[in-house]
Amino acid sequence: MKQVTLKDKTFGISYPENEIQADIDVLASKINWDFHASEETPIFLSILNGAFMFTADLVKRVSFPCQISFIKLSSYKGTKSTGNVNELIGLNENIEGRSVIIVEDIVDTGITLSKLFAELSKLNPKVIKVATLLYKPDAYKGTIPIDYIGKSIPNEFIVGYGLDYDGIGRNLPDIYTLISE
Ligand code: 5GP
Ligand code: MG
Repeated sequence: MKQVTLKDKTFGISYPENEIQADIDVLASKINWDFHASEETPIFLSILNGAFMFTADLVKRVSFPCQISFIKLSSYKGTKSTGNVNELIGLNENIEGRSVIIVEDIVDTGITLSKLFAELSKLNPKVIKVATLLYKPDAYKGTIPIDYIGKSIPNEFIVGYGLDYDGIGRNLPDIYTLISE
């Protein structure tokens, strides 16, 4: 089995590049079908860092005029509140009344997605759709429907194709799963 070692951990290939690309073909076809008659310009919001590679491959297959923007959701301790405050960084476009498609690398517990959804909803878009390459159904605790899924995977740690282990591995064209020690 093809393996890769990143720092102290070894990973085995679990989702090869050709399968990733084939699943993106199917996912993109569904998005194209849903938006082909749309008279507006939908906006893809890619969530950095992990979704950069998936976003590039996905939008090349999109057949309608669209905008693409890259955003981050940063979490910081409020100076007066005790809880975490989440702030959207990098969203310069007005999304009021528009169709928004969130592009995620992976939905795990769904915590990131629900915070993002709440922040974007405050800006009054017409609709928010969610596209993710990977989804861990056994870990998901959210309630937000995930409209477009490339592949559902077991609740294991993966790297590659945009996803990192301790900052490295994002450049790998295939996806690898941690081999348990
Ligand atoms: P959630 O908030 O849904 O639990 O997780 C969201 C983020 O955690 C993802 O966008 C991703 O950055 C990170 N994450 C979740 N599962 C994995 C994984 O298996 N591997 C890596 N590298 N990151 C993950
Ligand atoms: Mg992500």
